[in-house]
Amino acid sequence: MSEHETVWIAVGGRSNSAQRSYHTDPNCSGLKSAKRVAEKPRVTLSARTKHCRLCSGDYRPHAAGDGRKMQKRLLESKPEDLGLSSLSEDSA
Ligand SMILES: [Zn+2]
Repeated sequence: MSEHETVWIAVGGRSNSAQRSYHTDPNCSGLKSAKRVAEKPRVTLSARTKHCRLCSGDYRPHAAGDGRKMQKRLLESKPEDLGLSSLSEDSA
């Protein structure tokens, strides 16, 4: 990632939370509610400014609901069932 990367932040909004994150995609839906969008070099941002979850790819709405279900399935499954037997230390 380049230090001279340009990012976008929402400014002038009612919520301060928008200003605590920056966007790497100017068309990000996280910016749509912003009154104004400011383009800034990423280096000028505070270290506390987080990369928006939408354009960073962290936020996956379709996976959110299934996450807990999947975790439960993993807990109930034997490693062998998941094809993970090679990861088990007991088999070494
Ligand atoms: Zn974003």
